[in-house]
Amino acid sequence: MMLLEELVAAADTARAAIEAQRARKPAGLDKQRFYSSRSWRALRYATLCKNREQYAALTCEVCKSTDGPFHCDHIEPLSLNWHRRLDPTNVQVMCDDCNLGKGNRDQIDWREPVE
Ligand SMILES: [Zn+2]
Repeated sequence: MMLLEELVAAADTARAAIEAQRARKPAGLDKQRFYSSRSWRALRYATLCKNREQYAALTCEVCKSTDGPFHCDHIEPLSLNWHRRLDPTNVQVMCDDCNLGKGNRDQIDWREPVE
């Protein structure tokens, strides 16, 4: 027979596992809703403005191309850390080719420090 303390610990472990799962993989609809949210669009716009100010023209942080279209990439992907979706230090500008090549395979911060 399990002690009450063991049952509570097991329930805590299960709850933590569920919360961790939710943090990693938001439902498709949540992701879709996020990308059309006012807060994401504001962060995206601010990121593009900062990039343009730093390089004089919109520039891919990886290959330094100035040919768009550009993406605002989550360095730590949403699929791995949903909680950093609106963290300005987790967003970088990438061209189409670089962003599509990256997928969610690495978490390299390509940004150069602002001088
Ligand atoms: Zn690029």
